[in-house]
Amino acid sequence: MLDFSFFNPTRVLFGRDMLARMEDYIPVGARVLVLYGGGSVLRNGTMERVRSGLTQREMLEFGGIEPNPTFETLMRAVALVREKSVDFLIALGGGSVIDGAKFVAAAAVWDGDPWGILATRGSEIRTAIPLAAIPTLPATGSEMNGTAVITRADIAAKRVFKSEHVFPVFAVLDPTLTFTLPPWQIANGIVDAFVHVLEQYLTYPADAPVQDRFAEGLLHVLLEVADTTLAEPENYDARSSLMWAATLALNGLIGAGVPQDWSSHLIGHELTALYGLDHARTLAVVFPAMLSVRREEKRAKLIQYAERVWGVREGSDDEKIRSALTLTNEFFMRLGLGIHLSDYGLGQGDVEALLAALERTHGTCALGERQSVTPDVARAVLEAAL
Ligand code: NAP
Ligand code: FE
Repeated sequence: MLDFSFFNPTRVLFGRDMLARMEDYIPVGARVLVLYGGGSVLRNGTMERVRSGLTQREMLEFGGIEPNPTFETLMRAVALVREKSVDFLIALGGGSVIDGAKFVAAAAVWDGDPWGILATRGSEIRTAIPLAAIPTLPATGSEMNGTAVITRADIAAKRVFKSEHVFPVFAVLDPTLTFTLPPWQIANGIVDAFVHVLEQYLTYPADAPVQDRFAEGLLHVLLEVADTTLAEPENYDARSSLMWAATLALNGLIGAGVPQDWSSHLIGHELTALYGLDHARTLAVVFPAMLSVRREEKRAKLIQYAERVWGVREGSDDEKIRSALTLTNEFFMRLGLGIHLSDYGLGQGDVEALLAALERTHGTCALGERQSVTPDVARAVLEAAL
């Protein structure tokens, strides 16, 4: 096992009646800003529940945070926070709203141009306004981590920052808040969570059986509940399993003490920045190609993945790996996600544009758990994804 320092300060309030408990963790008299997205929470009654759950606090609202939240929109929220001296933020929505709230929390008390937060990947953040998360979409794990992904629309750049100061103080995980999601958003969420686990699992062996078994357990649960939670959106038990699995997939636990890849996510961010593809859809395109190109580097864990997650026991090691890759691709496709760039009308010319964008973001830095994803390897991956 690799050395690690694990820190996660987020309190989780899980269940259908836990929204009523959030007041216990917000100071009386606080001026609270509730941030939300394009309005789903207004239409489905979730905002009303939050409003009636907040007494003895002043409540303000800021809506319009878009999927893949932009710096430009979030800076308007920062202005409101400063003008009204807001002292607590609640993110009510999907990963985009939660990520956006993390940026607002840090930017509101940042000296200088807040793009500096992204330029320094969060390393210079010294303080932030406390925030809480009420996720309405099980996918990103943002509700229980200190990471956010923010887009600058004017330069088509999607950047990540991390800081211990932007972990939510608490997260209310109420599966019933997700019942109104359309099936394709649930499919996105399953794939995002699945790939989060795999980016921390399909690396090189680190003699970390606890992390491996946790990761395999989460993968099994995602595979087991996928069909039910898609077919029966109001099946509370299935949706609870999806929600908790998505949170645990990226709250730091399974990634502590093991190598982490993330190259598919980082290449995927460029696909979203340039073409607006949903985050999970970028992963369904890049990740299968990444595994295919780097199958030798990831050989030992791919065999373990084939055997323990997909139950492939027959055949040579190469056949097992092939089966695992095929089964993974079929899973993504069964959920309705394309696994080729051509599924989105993209071709060779777009590969060049993506590589240029990747270089603007990362220079010639090599990505992945062994820094083996050089620009040449990234090219091979994108061409394999055509
Ligand atoms: P999202 O972009 O937050 O939301 C997608 C759509 O779902 C929105 O149009 C939203 O509508 C709708 N929606 C959300 N909840 C709903 C509900 N209960 N009923 C009906 N519609 C609902 O999606 P996401 O996948 O959660 O977040 C994606 C973002 O997270 C990307 O920017 C990605 O890069 C980032 N990400 C972050 C992390 C992290 O660790 N921080 C990890 C992975 C990905 P409204 O806007 O109208 O509410
Ligand atoms: Fe993700």
